[in-house]
Amino acid sequence: MTNPSLTLTFLFAGVLIANLLTKLWLSTRQVQHVAAHRAQVPDAFAQTISLQAHQKAADYTLAKSRVSLIDLGLDALTLLGWTLMGGLDLLNQITQDLLGPGMTQQVVLVVSFALIGGVIGLPLSLYQTFGIEQRFGFNNTTLALWVSDLFKGLLVGLLLGLPILWLVLWLMEAGGNLWWLYAWCALVVYQLFVMWIAPNVIMPLFNKFTPLDDASLKERVSALMDRAGFTAKGFFVMDGSRRSAHSNAFFTGFGSAKRVVFFDTLLKQLNGDEMEAVLAHELGHFKHRHILKMMLTSFAVSLAGLALLGWLSQQVWFYTGLGVIPNLNGGNSALALLLFMLVLPLFTFFVSPLSARRSRRFEFEADAYAVTHAQAPALSSALLKLYQDNASTLTPDPWYVAFYYSHPPASQRLARINA
Ligand SMILES: [Zn+2]
Repeated sequence: MTNPSLTLTFLFAGVLIANLLTKLWLSTRQVQHVAAHRAQVPDAFAQTISLQAHQKAADYTLAKSRVSLIDLGLDALTLLGWTLMGGLDLLNQITQDLLGPGMTQQVVLVVSFALIGGVIGLPLSLYQTFGIEQRFGFNNTTLALWVSDLFKGLLVGLLLGLPILWLVLWLMEAGGNLWWLYAWCALVVYQLFVMWIAPNVIMPLFNKFTPLDDASLKERVSALMDRAGFTAKGFFVMDGSRRSAHSNAFFTGFGSAKRVVFFDTLLKQLNGDEMEAVLAHELGHFKHRHILKMMLTSFAVSLAGLALLGWLSQQVWFYTGLGVIPNLNGGNSALALLLFMLVLPLFTFFVSPLSARRSRRFEFEADAYAVTHAQAPALSSALLKLYQDNASTLTPDPWYVAFYYSHPPASQRLARINA
């Protein structure tokens, strides 16, 4: 007779090892590829990128890769610690002893799990900002601002997260066999709600938005949006430079009326033509309904995931196979939810090249749209500046790109834009 609990343990361990080996292999490839091309600017960029900028991008990529290796090891250890080594089981027992069974215990279990995970990740996050970003001249954050962001983020997370967590756990307990369907509806509504309040309620907590006072840029962008069939609901500059020298521009808002937000760093780096081209690219994403397509995919995936969780949460081996003894008196929803969220990424990692490829295809489509509504040379020079300002390597490893890159490498984008 087979033992499903033991089978799950072995499956979990096997997939964890396969994950680690694949990620190690990818990182090694990326490091070797970037290092091998460090000495010389690729031919296609010989006229536009200096050797110094090229080498800075290579060194930045290599430094980030080293940190990602530490991250990889830490993640695997944490995962083992929570599951087979009994961490989650222990946390469950402690909260049961303190609070007894019930909704409060379940909510506290999830929240304390999230807090512990956050604390484990803190040192590396500190090092990324004040070690690497600092060393390469990208960091503008002070320790005081970093700490204040941390607590604000925690507060917003609790305020927004607790109600939906409580609702989902309650549906799991009281919603019957179809709880996962009700929970999915609640999550879809919740996600739309957060998207709706984010630009006006959440983002102003972290950044200052001031109306754009550059009249000629405003005029150009309005004209561009008219041509593309959008209405500008307002132009704002965001003080992104308070934290980082990396730059961006984006639109917010539902429907065809959009608020346009420029990072102050972007305004400094790009001229009017380049700015117009970058915004035309962003409008391309809306015209091709990329955001909607991504959202529908994520809703479909989460429906399938919740249905799977609906079944798994009823199986004793799902808990015991992952190192947790389920509570005898019921009330295992929080445990099931946490185990599922811990283990699922191990499996979805292997299909991540599919979603990454789709995202890169969307970028090509947005670029193609941009060159029909703005000037192609301006888009090329804007992209070059952005790649350079963000110190993105021009010579990534193709396999690494296939797994991780949501945007195509500069060489591919420029080749298509100039064609
Ligand atoms: Zn894009």
